Amino acid sequence: MSGDCDFGLIGLAVMGENLALNVESRGYKVAVYNRTTSKVDELLAGRAAGKNFVGAHSIEDFVKSVKRPRKLMMLVKAGPAVDALIDSLIPLCEPGDIIIDGGNTHYLDTERRTKKVEDAGLLYVGCGVSGGEEGALKGPSLMPGGSADAWPEVKDMFQAIAAKVGPNDDIPCCEWVGPRGSGHYVKMVHNGIEYGDMQLICEAYHLLKEVGGLSNDELYDVFQQWNEGDLASYLIEISRDIFSVKDDQGGDGFLVDKILDVAGAKGTGKWMSQLALDLGVPSTLVTTAVFARGLSAQKEARVRASEQLPGPADSQNTALRGVAKDLIGDKDAFVDAVRQALYASKIVSYAQGFVQLQAASAEHDWKLDYGQCALLWRGGCIIRAVFLDRIKEAFDAQGDLENLLLDGFFKDAIANAQEAWRNVIAVASTLGIPVPAFCTALNYYDGYRLARLPANLLQAQRDYFGAHTYKRVDMEGTFHSEWLDLR
Ligand code: NAP
Repeated sequence: MSGDCDFGLIGLAVMGENLALNVESRGYKVAVYNRTTSKVDELLAGRAAGKNFVGAHSIEDFVKSVKRPRKLMMLVKAGPAVDALIDSLIPLCEPGDIIIDGGNTHYLDTERRTKKVEDAGLLYVGCGVSGGEEGALKGPSLMPGGSADAWPEVKDMFQAIAAKVGPNDDIPCCEWVGPRGSGHYVKMVHNGIEYGDMQLICEAYHLLKEVGGLSNDELYDVFQQWNEGDLASYLIEISRDIFSVKDDQGGDGFLVDKILDVAGAKGTGKWMSQLALDLGVPSTLVTTAVFARGLSAQKEARVRASEQLPGPADSQNTALRGVAKDLIGDKDAFVDAVRQALYASKIVSYAQGFVQLQAASAEHDWKLDYGQCALLWRGGCIIRAVFLDRIKEAFDAQGDLENLLLDGFFKDAIANAQEAWRNVIAVASTLGIPVPAFCTALNYYDGYRLARLPANLLQAQRDYFGAHTYKRVDMEGTFHSEWLDLR
């Protein structure tokens, strides 16, 4: 038996409730279910009152209330809850029904679940959903992957609820990503890039505050200007706003200065780093950003160390700031140099993200469309930025572009920024201000652009102690030397 709802949603926490309201607002009738059924009643009596909703108190009633082929989306805590729900949905569903997981799921779980659900005669979609609470309600970025036959069934609805971009605001940030776990992989890389963007912005802030001596009012103005240029993005915009907020607990000054400098994390950045290591691709930006959060979390140890470990000529800190002046110039020049360092580092961060996507796509035969991925992130999500249009253009012009750094636009952008980028890092290291992501980005750039790295010595060492062999630059073949005998 089936009902007349167009869509079913399980999980009425922040994301599920808002996404259900979004779907209903586009003219669809929505069935909702939540393990704690009081939340169903609260929604129907509250935000969904008078709207086209059906509330279910059991998973059986929920499934029955949706018309075939059913589109049943889970927005619950990622992990075992999703497996348990799939187990309870499979016997209730009928051939062609679609089970969708919109949570922050590890892509390997989605690879496994797609097979399981397809083996049961149903279709499965692992859909990355980005944009938080507001995105879910007003238009998220959606990254669906899984059973290809599900796409024609969900396409209209998903594109209707997704964020829209383009000159006429009519290009949806939702396209089919590819098979099995590819949608969740793309979402994970999005989150990893978000880690990089946030760390880079924090390093720029640190420099502007500590070296440039900018007040929060000045920081607001700088971020306002930055938001009108190449760096225009959601994260620059919200950082600008943060600098204007006064302490809400009655104290003097600004709220940002009262916040403990200990960063949290939910784990998607760590997944991306771990998977980069598995693939052997150097996604150093996200890894550095994850470790930077880890170091921030060692607050007590840092406070103890701060009393013992000297920095560069601490006593002359003020005089040292002259280094910035000597290398870069006045305050305005310094601010602009930091902007350029941030922009160049951000390009490297995205280049690394796409290299990882290319490697994963090759490993799993996903055949990802990289320009499309950039477009999916153009609206409705945390990393939304004007910059992503340039990435789409780069991959549209050359679908097999090996690395974004080789695209003409980005090559020129880095060439223009690199003097300032190098100077900013020189100033930071001279003054003892950590800029791990700026440095990591520059080191990747310099490593990538060098035709010869010192790995020749490394191979010699490996051969010396472990007979691991080496190749030569001037002869074919594999060689081993008895290094001690040759001395
Ligand atoms: P959440 O806090 O991750 O999960 C709470 C929801 O999961 C509740 O509906 C809860 O039901 C349900 N749940 C937990 N264990 C369950 C189980 N064993 N069986 C059935 N239901 C169970 O909710 P959220 O923040 O809205 O996020 C939902 C998903 O979207 C997560 O995977 C999250 O990572 C992802 N996501 C979140 C955001 C965000 O900004 N919050 C953004 C993008 C993606 P009860 O009410 O009965 O406890």
